[in-house]
Amino acid sequence: MKKLNASRSNKNANKSAGKARLAKRTPADKQTIEDLVAANRILYAQSVLDGYGHVSARHDTNPDRFWLSRGMAPGLVTAGDIMEFDLSGEPVDGQGRLTYAERFIHSEIYRRRSDVKAIVHSHSPAVIPFGVTSVPLRPIFHMSGFLGTGVPIFEIRETAGDTDMLVRNPALGAALALCLSDKSATLMRGHGSVAVGTSLPQAVFRAIYLEVNARLQSEAMKLGSINFLTPTEAKLAAAGNDMHVLRPWMLWKHEIAK
Ligand code: MN
Repeated sequence: MKKLNASRSNKNANKSAGKARLAKRTPADKQTIEDLVAANRILYAQSVLDGYGHVSARHDTNPDRFWLSRGMAPGLVTAGDIMEFDLSGEPVDGQGRLTYAERFIHSEIYRRRSDVKAIVHSHSPAVIPFGVTSVPLRPIFHMSGFLGTGVPIFEIRETAGDTDMLVRNPALGAALALCLSDKSATLMRGHGSVAVGTSLPQAVFRAIYLEVNARLQSEAMKLGSINFLTPTEAKLAAAGNDMHVLRPWMLWKHEIAK
């Protein structure tokens, strides 16, 4: 009986710690968290994320912090699952919760790229062939103009030799961030991809159209040689898309609310 009471009081203590944690969040934090929950569910609904992959958002007022779900399937994420991390990739208030092994993708890109406010890491399938062959992923239509500056491929072997392919520590995250450089996305050989943005809607848009572009490019390659967008066309198209990035975002949000 004594033991039962102790475990109950532990549970209550955890509950009140959880409440205190939530109470510390400002209205701006709550909005970011709400958008991040939506981003998780949108990317799952759009088949960019499945049981794996993750999306994060940088803190609005503290650029040395970011938000990311605890380790779980993105399609099931709710506001209570979102945790705050520092740029070493460690949770600020972990509470013993499971974290993603590859959280260093996020911490190291935020550390290197002050312009980046949101990051998606996925294993979406159509991009995989472009990470393992010599065929570069290039903008095949206006929606993927953001690819016009080039899409690097992260080769994990260069940093760590044979691994399980996961970005499991800050050194691998830093190597990935270096490979991404100032680009919008990078492929990860034999693994997946990363798309970044100056906002959550833009990062989500890019993750979705990275996959669409890869699918269309593979299709077009079966038909013959491809007439890609020129670098200038890609730049102009990307600027146009960025002006209207909230249009698809509102639609995707509406769809997950059904
Ligand atoms: Mn991964």
